[in-house]
Amino acid sequence: MDQSSGRILYIGGAWVASKSTDVIAVINPATEAVIASATAGSRQDAADAAIAARTAFDSWSQTSLDERLGLLRRVSAGIAARADELARTITSEMGCPIGFSRAAQIGLPLGDIKATLDVAADLDDRVIGRSIIQNDPVGVVAAITPWNFPLHQIMAKIAPALAAGCTVVLKPSEVTPLNAVILAEIFHAAGAPKGVFNLIIGGRETGQALVSHPDIDMVSFTGSTRGGRAVAQAAAKGPKKVALELGGKSANIILDDADLEKAIPASLGQAFINSGQVCAALSRLIVPESRRKQIEAIAAQAVKGWTLGDPMDPATRLGPLANRTQQASVRDAINGAVEQGARLVTGGSQQPVAQPKGAYITPTILSDVHSHMDIARQETFGPVLSIIGYADEAEAVRIANDSDYGLSGGVWSGNDDRMMAIARRMRTGQVILNGASLDLAAPFGGVKQSGIGRENGRYGLEEYFAPKAITRPSASPAEEKKT
Ligand code: NAD
Repeated sequence: MDQSSGRILYIGGAWVASKSTDVIAVINPATEAVIASATAGSRQDAADAAIAARTAFDSWSQTSLDERLGLLRRVSAGIAARADELARTITSEMGCPIGFSRAAQIGLPLGDIKATLDVAADLDDRVIGRSIIQNDPVGVVAAITPWNFPLHQIMAKIAPALAAGCTVVLKPSEVTPLNAVILAEIFHAAGAPKGVFNLIIGGRETGQALVSHPDIDMVSFTGSTRGGRAVAQAAAKGPKKVALELGGKSANIILDDADLEKAIPASLGQAFINSGQVCAALSRLIVPESRRKQIEAIAAQAVKGWTLGDPMDPATRLGPLANRTQQASVRDAINGAVEQGARLVTGGSQQPVAQPKGAYITPTILSDVHSHMDIARQETFGPVLSIIGYADEAEAVRIANDSDYGLSGGVWSGNDDRMMAIARRMRTGQVILNGASLDLAAPFGGVKQSGIGRENGRYGLEEYFAPKAITRPSASPAEEKKT
């Protein structure tokens, strides 16, 4: 592969030059240096990739499960072997601290593959009535992904898609294309058959061209709700299947019996990790009004541990945001919140004094936030936590559910029954109890404007199936035994 001449599209098993001369500058958000110049793929590139994936589908969909899982195992080994290079690349593309990059930005995609391998072998044909239900692959999948967990969001789609027998065209975020190029090298070295995995690079227009191409059967999109709507509209013309993992404004409910010295510092982590650039960030802290002052004091103390710095320094906990556009949008959100009556507990919108350069935002806590304020309703995607008070449990649940989104949520309590009762009433795709870590075996996805469909584990794999019923006039004796 020769990136300097723009040959960074991987189509039909070969590195090819784009049909476009447009380029995208990849900028390190900490140093603001241009670190690479990537091709902005054309409509023709999208078509070439879709056709290559369609051509490969007939044979890939007929391979044995063992063969498909074998490819995923080799890709997993390839990611592990290049983990340090991938972690550094992701940190320089989007700014997250190198320690986090090594642990999460590489650990999660490896976990995604494992979660697929763990469930794929169990999904045999089922017998229902007189029919055998065969899990056919849905077809050619367009995977369109964002920049905040770039490799994780890619693998959460393509590992199950490939295991199911689908072929894939990946269009990663134009902010973070370089890790995807390494992934394509890994697929190539792993002996992926031609056209099974294809990579095109580009922005919104390249994505639209891909979604609209007649050879694409399904679009799996992760990104903003605005982007998801546009993708769903373009896919509706097919119509084609869509899975949408979109934004969030998730609530973290602190019950009055929670261990506050443990819950509040951990809640900051649930809001600030990856500089808050997490779709499932628990960015609304719903607290008992009677404990608000105590909670603000614990939070103001705990925030001191969230140091900003050079993301390549292993001691740094918070790097810059992914780019200046993101920084400007978070600054506007903080300023808007204060204008609408929220009170700044700590942080603020100004460029941090110690970080005069780069897309940095000081971790910020706002209190006296109310559900009608923009800061409580709109996704911020930055290290900003909004504290909202409640009078009783019913009000806490009402505030949590008073959102256009429904991706994630959290509950903290010393009593498991109380915590479960609240969790069951939250209208979200998942609820985290007492700071539990992510469970990649469990389904991940949202309700309301947070999306359609689920990723990870068994539910994630099933998204890529088109179940086919093969029906006999009467059940065969073998099938009757199975039912
Ligand atoms: P984005 O919507 O701007 O872009 C996401 C991807 O979609 C990129 O590859 C982009 O080029 C492409 N794209 C954008 N508009 C498109 C269109 N009209 N047609 C086809 N492709 C299009 O989002 P982003 O800024 O990259 O990522 C941040 C957003 O992603 C946040 O809103 C965040 O909540 C969301 N997100 C959701 C999840 C989840 O699983 N629910 C995970 C991570 C991020």
